[in-house]
Amino acid sequence: MPIAGRVLSLYSTLAYPQYTTTYVRTDANTCGSDGGAFYLDGTGHICILDSGGGWIDATTWKFIFGHEMGHRVSDANDGPLGGGYNIDPRISSLCQCSYVDNFGGDAHCMQSREAAQSAQSEGFAHFFSTAIFNDRSENNGVYVYPKESLKASSLGYLIIDPPTAFDAYLKSGSDNNQWMEHKCNPGDVDQGVELDWLHFYFELWTSGANEWSIDEMFDIWSDTTGNYGWNNGSNGIMDIVNSQMGSGSDKRNLFYNTGIASGVDHG
Ligand SMILES: [Zn+2]
Repeated sequence: MPIAGRVLSLYSTLAYPQYTTTYVRTDANTCGSDGGAFYLDGTGHICILDSGGGWIDATTWKFIFGHEMGHRVSDANDGPLGGGYNIDPRISSLCQCSYVDNFGGDAHCMQSREAAQSAQSEGFAHFFSTAIFNDRSENNGVYVYPKESLKASSLGYLIIDPPTAFDAYLKSGSDNNQWMEHKCNPGDVDQGVELDWLHFYFELWTSGANEWSIDEMFDIWSDTTGNYGWNNGSNGIMDIVNSQMGSGSDKRNLFYNTGIASGVDHG
């Protein structure tokens, strides 16, 4: 697969729609008039628009380019690619997005509990953008998010206007750790939280001797089907990891332990 930064910098991978063989295509006519930023599954078309539908200007947010590029690269390599979000209106308000006005309102957001497949897809896109703009050896992984987010304070949870900076690393003592586990009544459901999956992918990618490449991640996700959870029978992610990497291998153990630490081990 292309290296993330080169995808953004090489003219040969990014062009207008008449070049149908390029990796990434941009065409405002194809994107419609809704505004915002999105990737059109299966087409190579990334849409990042400056106006429309009451959305704020997406073109001034560099992390959005990285995020949509993550969806594009994932689509081209059978990586995580979500469907609907299916946020349950009965769960805690900390796990919905009713406080979000920017970029698509409450369809999904960083801290929503949503379909596992979509949480993985969005978490991967957040991770990919973080990987573009941070060095793998730095001790912080800054990801700047364009929607409103929740932050803990002495007064409870406050709604923070964008831009909101998240650390893609799990930092000990952070109130952002394991959002699904601590805030969203996880149970044994095939659902997840985008922030937890951002932590998972970034930790897995930066863990030293046994760290996983993005290609290795795609090899796992390319074997999944449906709205798969962590360990649900033959369709689960851990079953695929065990069979591909060997159930006692260091790489498998890192994947498993990072899943528990991030709190993505549900379903
Ligand atoms: Zn996305």
